Amino acid sequence: MFSSKVQEAMNEQIKNELYSAYIYLSMAAHFEAVNLPGFAHWMRMQSNEEVEHAMKFFDFINERGGRVELRAIDQPPVEWDSPLSIFETALSHEQKVTGMITNIYEIAAAEKDYASQIMLQWFIDEQVEEEKSAGEIVETLKMFGERDTVVLLLDRQLGERAEE
Ligand code: MG
Repeated sequence: MFSSKVQEAMNEQIKNELYSAYIYLSMAAHFEAVNLPGFAHWMRMQSNEEVEHAMKFFDFINERGGRVELRAIDQPPVEWDSPLSIFETALSHEQKVTGMITNIYEIAAAEKDYASQIMLQWFIDEQVEEEKSAGEIVETLKMFGERDTVVLLLDRQLGERAEE
């Protein structure tokens, strides 16, 4: 049985994943504006991935015979600070998302909705990766500082991020 409480939490999470897409797209727009195309590319890939996350919930609700409900997405910030502070924001955002996924998993467990628990396992693994990739960039920027050469080299490296 597809629990209505799980359906409610997943509908909310579709919105949250789309908000993630939006926040990363806003970061991409900022990096475009300050001529860091590699950072912008990385954020754009990240944004695309968040849309895929939203669609995984969309498809799953439909597969379970539930009803998808799309909700209003908040406006993300427009102005951003340094690359380090942006990646720190990305990391803390992903930590927040991990909490959201854990919360849905707990609802599914309480409802004895095993199929949802199995589906959410993928997201639990994915969040480990998300926190790791944002965390690594934060660490690099902290270790080497935000001197122009460091930022330019990192821009080149992040520009090579492949489509997932
Ligand atoms: Mg996500």
